[in-house]
Amino acid sequence: KQITDMNALADEYLRLAYHGLRAKDKLFNCQLVTNYDPSLPNVEVVTQDIGRVLLNLYNNAFYAVQEKARTNGEQRNAEYQPTVTVQTQRHVDNVIICVRDNGTGIPESVKRKIFQPFFTTKPTGQGTGLGLSLAYDIVTKGHGGEMTVVSQEGEGTEFTIRLPTQTPTS
Ligand code: ADP
Ligand code: MG
Repeated sequence: KQITDMNALADEYLRLAYHGLRAKDKLFNCQLVTNYDPSLPNVEVVTQDIGRVLLNLYNNAFYAVQEKARTNGEQRNAEYQPTVTVQTQRHVDNVIICVRDNGTGIPESVKRKIFQPFFTTKPTGQGTGLGLSLAYDIVTKGHGGEMTVVSQEGEGTEFTIRLPTQTPTS
């Protein structure tokens, strides 16, 4: 595990994910809103693993806003501003990272399954369904943290990760 500035990591991977998608699709456009706690303590994490977790959350969020734009119809799209918001906060001995999107949202029946390995609603070739199950294991088993989701179908989704600033050495 390495001592990690989560604000820097969260931002680096956000830009990476966004520019990666824009390189493939020049028309892809999404507002990025960031709100990083300037007094966030460093965390001791496997930086690369948490990076993968964030990357998957971002890619899921960008997919959800794209999917909403695709299914919205032209009329409603005139008023739709796809937005992904990333926020960090300190909470006692924990660092909280929230990734929010105003995309499709997740129906209740789907929400129960999203952390299961190989569960995906994406067309063949577009998703392995492994992202969130892996992310969940990395955060909980790998770092003694928590990962939760709140979503409203048609409105958007928010994933929250809580990481203790220092994980017990295992
Ligand atoms: P994949 O991205 O390969 O489908 P994931 O494990 O990352 O696999 O996600 C599983 C499923 O959870 C997705 O197929 C999708 O149905 C749902 N999901 C995850 N994140 C979001 C999100 N931000 N908005 C809407 N649905 C989501
Ligand atoms: Mg994914």
